[in-house]
Amino acid sequence: MNTDTYRHKGLRAQLVKELSKKGINDVAVLNAILAVPRHLFLDNAFDEWAYKDNAFPIDCEQTISQPYTVAFQTSLLELKPKDKVLEIGLGSGYQACVLYEMGAKVYSIERHKHLHDQTAQRLRKIGYPNIRTFYGDGFKGLPRFAPFDKILITAAAPEIPDELLSQLKIGGIMVIPLTEGSVQKMMKITKLEDGKLKKENFGNFKFVPMLKGTE
Ligand code: SAH
Repeated sequence: MNTDTYRHKGLRAQLVKELSKKGINDVAVLNAILAVPRHLFLDNAFDEWAYKDNAFPIDCEQTISQPYTVAFQTSLLELKPKDKVLEIGLGSGYQACVLYEMGAKVYSIERHKHLHDQTAQRLRKIGYPNIRTFYGDGFKGLPRFAPFDKILITAAAPEIPDELLSQLKIGGIMVIPLTEGSVQKMMKITKLEDGKLKKENFGNFKFVPMLKGTE
């Protein structure tokens, strides 16, 4: 079912309130969260769970990220309308829709064929046909469509992938959760004029791993 009711909208408004209490203060991000019907990214049976600020399991042992994490990563990207954004880790497609609602041109890669196909179909069905999805290995990026204004990685990366850095514009921002021990530190990497990198750490988060190759 594809319905978005007043009840769902009310639950979303509550979620947005909760996120702003937790420190998310970017109004454009909060409005995007308000716009995307997160319950349509979970099985119907879990409707009630969709607007809790939790991660949730999806197919292929992956997760739809916690709304707070989605909002936090999106804020760090400093999106401008029409920014060309590459997401690594399409998963459910929820994060991609939040980027789209912010006015970005979204390209997203998923390494699980089943998840990719299921999500691509969902995005068409629920009104996001313009998000471009790709089945493949995100470590390689999308050289055909590079360079990107922003790159967002939604899985735990072992290091900053060189291939992806080379597909980022000068002045562009990459947001990447880098594994350190059992957690990930949320890094914002800015590619400076001289090609050097400015690296800022925004604290610890938990992600499923970014894996090489496809399945
Ligand atoms: N952005 C997603 C979060 C999904 S969890 C959402 O909003 O639902 C991370 C996703 O990254 C998983 O679906 C996982 O399969 C995918 N992933 C992991 N390594 C990858 C890689 N090398 N290339 C592409 N996708 C990858």
